[in-house]
Amino acid sequence: MLDVHAPFESRVTQALADDHLRTALDRATTRLAERRDLAVAAVDNPALRHEVRAIRQFAITHLPDMLQQLETNLIANGCQVHWARNAAEANDIVRDIARRHGVRRVVKSKSMLTEEIGLNEALETDGIEVVETDLGEYIIQLAHEPPSHILAPVIHKRAEDISDLFQRELGMPPTTDPGVMCATARQELRRKFLQADMGISGGNFAIAETGTICIITNEGNGRMVTSMPRVHVAVVGIEKVVPRVEDAFLLWQATTRNATGQAVSVYFAMCSGPRRPDHADGPQEMHVVLLDNGRSRIIDRGYPDVLLCIRCGACVDVCPVYREIGGHAYGATAYSGPIGAVLTPLLADDPTSVCELPFASSLCGACGEVCPAEIDLPRILLDLRSDMVNAGTSSVLERVAFTSYATGMQKPWRYRALVVVARWATKLLPRNGSGGLTKLLPPLNAWMRTRVFPRFARRSFRRLWRKRSSGRGIEPSR
Ligand code: SF4
Repeated sequence: MLDVHAPFESRVTQALADDHLRTALDRATTRLAERRDLAVAAVDNPALRHEVRAIRQFAITHLPDMLQQLETNLIANGCQVHWARNAAEANDIVRDIARRHGVRRVVKSKSMLTEEIGLNEALETDGIEVVETDLGEYIIQLAHEPPSHILAPVIHKRAEDISDLFQRELGMPPTTDPGVMCATARQELRRKFLQADMGISGGNFAIAETGTICIITNEGNGRMVTSMPRVHVAVVGIEKVVPRVEDAFLLWQATTRNATGQAVSVYFAMCSGPRRPDHADGPQEMHVVLLDNGRSRIIDRGYPDVLLCIRCGACVDVCPVYREIGGHAYGATAYSGPIGAVLTPLLADDPTSVCELPFASSLCGACGEVCPAEIDLPRILLDLRSDMVNAGTSSVLERVAFTSYATGMQKPWRYRALVVVARWATKLLPRNGSGGLTKLLPPLNAWMRTRVFPRFARRSFRRLWRKRSSGRGIEPSR
């Protein structure tokens, strides 16, 4: 695995040099994107995207009221509600609950939010064993790697890689049969479920009107995490609140359709409090940690639309940049792809600390086209780039280059003069067989490492246009 703490350019270079990684990414993202396209085409209802957006927008616009209603109903259901402003507070709350209950073993269902705050590491410092029970998360936990996709954390591994890992860590016989590999993990995880003192989940949605935390899974581990151990802790981002039960159902369908191409996921756990006297099972206590960790600051920073995200991962699967470099190249962050490129800087105390991420996009627009919440990701990427430049993150050379370019492009005569100068200047530089430039002077030669600058056309477009237009009363602008 590449070093997620290395500088961005080095991470990208490492990723591009890894043929196994690119094979795995290509296989998985192509499959996911195709399934999504089929599922969306089968429903064929463009109005659904507007509905999803409207629900999310209502919740974010009325966030304080929604959260208050959620808290009231969670408490009425017997839950204990905790508010956390940041990662440290959330981790301390969960550690404190674990300490009070003498917890030694924790089972977790998949939660990107707990990845974001480093909850596993915080619990492990207290000597608590934490076991991820989502198959993908379990695999990367065994491999001591962070997730590389918000939905499919192990997307960067091929079946062969996982087989090697299971043989080494779980004593599995050599095979790449998915059935055998799943059965091996299942057997191991069953034991962990039965031994666990506490279950930790995230929450895909938190329904305000009923005080219910909803968890989408395909493996059933979400239900086991939330019902088998004696304590259940749900760590939920404040933006996950939705007004009504029917809203959660619509978002559930939108999430799974766009994530995996399913009409709905296999499981949809709805947790509305601890076990009651007439219940056959369930936790004795249910805690809900409502975590901000920079989310309200995203609104203050002028990017509320980013909070409409339902984490379906569709934008990640279609992103040509992600498909080449994978999630680890985005650094030590829980989020990658286009949504990661905007969410990571916006959640950071200092967005300029990850200033390269909004530039990790070709701005092709594919992410905006597939987003079920109609988030204009390309626009947000551009706005963040502008913020980064205004914050002074670009080099002096870059600023001089773009200021000169802008100055040149503002007047047709300046543009024409620049072209004449460039045409003559490039005549002095080395060329390949078809006349393209193969080298520029430093520092522009870095740009040429993977590109060839084509030969200037003998006659410019403007001259051709003038010739074609002559006699037809069409004149190019002066
Ligand atoms: S930004 Fe849109 S497409 Fe990307 S994960 Fe969020 S909801 Fe899905």
